[in-house]
Amino acid sequence: MGKALIIGCGGVAQVAIHKCCQNSAVFEEICIASRTKSKCDAVKAKLDGGKTKITTAQVDADKVDELVALIQREKPDVVLNLALPYQDLTIMDACLATRTNYVDTANYEPEDTAKFEYKWQWAYRERFEQAGITALLGSGFDPGVTSVFSAYALKHQFDEIHYIDILDCNAGDHGYPFATNFNPEINIREVSANGSYWEDGHWVETKPMEIKRVYDFPEIGEKDMYLLHHEEIESLALNMPGIKRIRFFMTFGQSYLTHLRCLENVGMTSIEPIEYQGMQIVPLQFLKAVLPDPASLGPRTKGKTNIGCIFRGVNDGKEKTYYLYNICDHQACYKETGMQAVAYTTGVPAMIGASMLLSGTWNTPGVHNIEEFDPDPFMAALNKWGLPWKESFHPDLVD
Ligand code: NDP
Repeated sequence: MGKALIIGCGGVAQVAIHKCCQNSAVFEEICIASRTKSKCDAVKAKLDGGKTKITTAQVDADKVDELVALIQREKPDVVLNLALPYQDLTIMDACLATRTNYVDTANYEPEDTAKFEYKWQWAYRERFEQAGITALLGSGFDPGVTSVFSAYALKHQFDEIHYIDILDCNAGDHGYPFATNFNPEINIREVSANGSYWEDGHWVETKPMEIKRVYDFPEIGEKDMYLLHHEEIESLALNMPGIKRIRFFMTFGQSYLTHLRCLENVGMTSIEPIEYQGMQIVPLQFLKAVLPDPASLGPRTKGKTNIGCIFRGVNDGKEKTYYLYNICDHQACYKETGMQAVAYTTGVPAMIGASMLLSGTWNTPGVHNIEEFDPDPFMAALNKWGLPWKESFHPDLVD
């Protein structure tokens, strides 16, 4: 059906690449391009020989001219951005210059400010519309599947949704005292920032990890979870008419929190450059270099993830509660793709999002968050491609 250019070759990208090769009817050809080409070549060596034709390339995705040259050479139908949020705008610029569709999983964040919001990417709306191309924002799990769950719940279960609690539980154990399940720099920036939630038309800000709840997760059991700011809250607040409150909670174990606090206290999570032996270094980037690579956690991680949304609202004049979630097993993901479940739960929806554009199933020029599209084909694809969802009409609620 078409060709995708995949930028980045970390844990998430490697899952997406596996899945594109499984879905060769849609992904006839892929080009894997990243800063370190040897990683792309290693993945190609593992997967070559199937129906999907794979090529590789080196690219610095901070440089628009390099990206434009690559896109002009490879001529993809869609660019799947699985590098870091810092590269979102340069890749969008290159897509605009070459009139190519764009998909990502994380919203733009300037490297020198730990603040992620959609305003920079939403500023491209008119230009994408005029160019007749589509940018699909946030096609991972959260944002991504959680946003599609919200669109699906609104379409099929509610007249109006008033409350959404997004619950992200990772009960996996990798055996290290401290490691992050996706890019350490991005992960630590996210969890050490102030929390926030949306209520009655405005943001309510909290201190990092200030709000804690305990939740009894289906198939996992009780876990401590903490309220974080999360990017899908911003777009769902706009796209869910009548919404009163949206919160996001993520589980963390005590060992993770104790290490994080200690690293913060000694300044290792700072993004302010410091001078060290005549060089400028960013402490958090140095920390990333000494932590385990998330892409290497696959063989060691055991246990499950459970990520989903609890909705409350009204249907046919009656109050209603509805819980949609997915359970994923780290070892099963590893057996299939060599990666653990956090990379898997992001890489599969990234492939599905790209397939929606490649197949023309979703085709509305402009810059769109994923919940703006018809959720039904995506929900069907989740069941088909390894992330089956479950529903409950009487879930425990979060107070
Ligand atoms: P990794 O750090 O494992 O991989 C990032 C990849 O991008 C690496 O291959 C890296 O290259 C490459 N890269 C970084 N900078 C550049 C550049 N300037 N030019 C070209 N390539 C570059 O990250 P993950 O796979 O864990 O995460 C990928 C993305 O997925 C992130 O944006 C993350 O925020 C997002 N994510 C989204 C989730 C969701 O549910 N929505 C959940 C988890 C992650 P090199 O190998 O040289 O370092």
